[in-house]
Amino acid sequence: MNARAAIFDQAGKPFRIAEMPLPASLHAGELAVEIALATICGSDLHTHSGRRMEPTPCVLGHEGVGRVIAAGEGRERWMGRRVTWSSADSCGQCAACTQWNLPQKCERVFKYGHATLHEASGLHGTYATHIVLRAGTHLVEVPENVPDAVAAAANCSLATMANVTEHLPSPCHVAVVQGAGLLGLHGCALLRAAGVERVIVVDTDEARLASVADFGGEAMLCVDVPAKCADVVIEAAGVPSIVNEGLRFLRPGGHYLFVGMVHPDSALNLTGEAIIRGCVSVRGFHNYAPRHLDMAVAFLTQSTLPWASLVSPPLSLAQLDEGFALSATRRWARVAISMSR
Ligand SMILES: [Zn+2]
Ligand SMILES: [Zn+2]
Repeated sequence: MNARAAIFDQAGKPFRIAEMPLPASLHAGELAVEIALATICGSDLHTHSGRRMEPTPCVLGHEGVGRVIAAGEGRERWMGRRVTWSSADSCGQCAACTQWNLPQKCERVFKYGHATLHEASGLHGTYATHIVLRAGTHLVEVPENVPDAVAAAANCSLATMANVTEHLPSPCHVAVVQGAGLLGLHGCALLRAAGVERVIVVDTDEARLASVADFGGEAMLCVDVPAKCADVVIEAAGVPSIVNEGLRFLRPGGHYLFVGMVHPDSALNLTGEAIIRGCVSVRGFHNYAPRHLDMAVAFLTQSTLPWASLVSPPLSLAQLDEGFALSATRRWARVAISMSR
């Protein structure tokens, strides 16, 4: 049996659709998943445009939802289930996995959508009809009431924000989220659900601010945010120049949490004095642990918020180039790629 995949060769070249054989048999703990829908993440835009380098050729994409169609020894119970999965596979044995509570920083971490075709089956990304998951990858069943378009990004921005909301200061009445993309909106909704009374979301793009109220936040332009109003400020915009502004919003002893700036073009113009005098706790968050994916899916199962309104009507795998172009316009928080189209 063959899978169909969109191969990424290099920045500036169109995707190439290719047939790739599914493995005839799976190793213990491995799973083959037939992908229903994938969403295009901002991080893939960086790779696609050449701002971030990945080993190629490869199948990009890490956000997705699908059904398990084959299971290796020990994971037979997952057969037939509709699932999403951790974007990182970890060994369960190294210090990061066992002592530091950071399995996403595993010594032998493997990240979906970031490996070449030459490794194992080559089916490591979600811009394909099938993906092969490794034995150390955490799975979560997706309840039928959560649509594909809503579930697909749970394993990226929502789970990452579930990680962030575990690390709020006490007390935490007011939060400012910098950036009204999907990361910011997921953060906004999770903060409100965690009991934060007021979540102010700032962005320079007024069109993006328009959906903030739908997710329980208050949309504001930076100039309107009062100084020292926030217990926590979350950077979800990826822009280094906003950090000083964010610190201005923090009360003494507040937390400044970095989430969005996962690229090398992130040098800060910051004084140590600002951190010391503000008694600020600074922390970075990269990805998440398996429990955060559980929290993310549980949150969506209960949520009545209009998440589907943030996702484009689905395009087909053959339209992936068009999907990337649409994603770059920021018209949608996510562009959907349906494998059945
Ligand atoms: Zn992502
Ligand atoms: Zn490990």
